Amino acid sequence: MIVVMKLGSSDEQVAGVIKRIEAAGLKEHLSRGVERTIIGVLGRTFPELRDMLEMLPGVDEVIPVSKPYKLCSREFHPQDTTVKVGEMTIGGNEIVVIAGPCAVENEQQLLETAKAVKAAGATILRGGVFKPSTSPYHFRGLGEPGLQLLAQIKKETGLPVITEVMSPHEVELVARYADILQIGARNMQNFNLLEEVGRSGKPAMLKRGLSATVQEWLLAAEYILAQGNQQLMLCERGIRTFETYTRNTMDISVIPVIEKVSHLPIIADPSHGTGKWYLVAPMALAAAAAGADGLMIEVHPNPDLALKDGAQSLNFGNFQQFMSQLRPVAAAVGRSVASPPLEVKS
Ligand code: PEP
Ligand code: MN
Repeated sequence: MIVVMKLGSSDEQVAGVIKRIEAAGLKEHLSRGVERTIIGVLGRTFPELRDMLEMLPGVDEVIPVSKPYKLCSREFHPQDTTVKVGEMTIGGNEIVVIAGPCAVENEQQLLETAKAVKAAGATILRGGVFKPSTSPYHFRGLGEPGLQLLAQIKKETGLPVITEVMSPHEVELVARYADILQIGARNMQNFNLLEEVGRSGKPAMLKRGLSATVQEWLLAAEYILAQGNQQLMLCERGIRTFETYTRNTMDISVIPVIEKVSHLPIIADPSHGTGKWYLVAPMALAAAAAGADGLMIEVHPNPDLALKDGAQSLNFGNFQQFMSQLRPVAAAVGRSVASPPLEVKS
């Protein structure tokens, strides 16, 4: 349940509510908005608690939360969460474009791609070095040397980097190099990993599982938030349906759904969402029109030679063309496209 404090309630009154929650053996989560203070009650609540809390001074109302996820629900935290990466804000008015190869292959591939996507207007560089692979015989990523390459190219281009972390014991390592930790679709319900990412406090992006419902996805997000890490965004990357023409079915409708039920920023990944390069731009534009806070696009210097996901990767020309299409679409829905960092910090 959520305790909504009256406008102008005092710190003392807030402390009184917290004391009462703790006395009932429960935990609280305090959210101070511009106008109102909201206190979430975490744990197994009981019906009498509602009356008890409602009687306390400064309390306006106590609302039972109908959803099983609390910390990531809009009810609980009405204002949008923004994720801060360097000087960049994700979840504000600007749409952030994350671009780069599926997998980091070598220095030249990563540097060329980073320069090209930055010149076209991307703000964050992506590149996997720990690759979840359906087949054990496929490229599994460069591992730590790949992280070093990401850090080096970040230094050269000024672009912050996002990369996937697959296991709890690698969170500390990946967090040393990356600006954002990506949790892949196959790991959406790796609860130990979620908690470790939560404890790291590092900005993170949680992809929707291959067959995950919105509720399962948000409950997974809850694991991260419950560890005290609020710097989280969600990523729709297509779901399994009966369709086989496309690799996955890009669920554009989930973008406004997330916007309605959660305060977390939502990113769309039409590369994995479709599996075909020529569907990437149309779905990315649709996602932007539907309210996505960011887009994640796979880009490779030579998609036909890519070690991973070449079929869904844009080449530089197509990426640049897509970026020029994105700006008017963003403007049409009252948003703009974030610009890359101008200066390279040493
Ligand atoms: C990726 O982003 O490269 C990736 C493996 O994505 P997903 O977890 O969505 O399959
Ligand atoms: Mn990929």
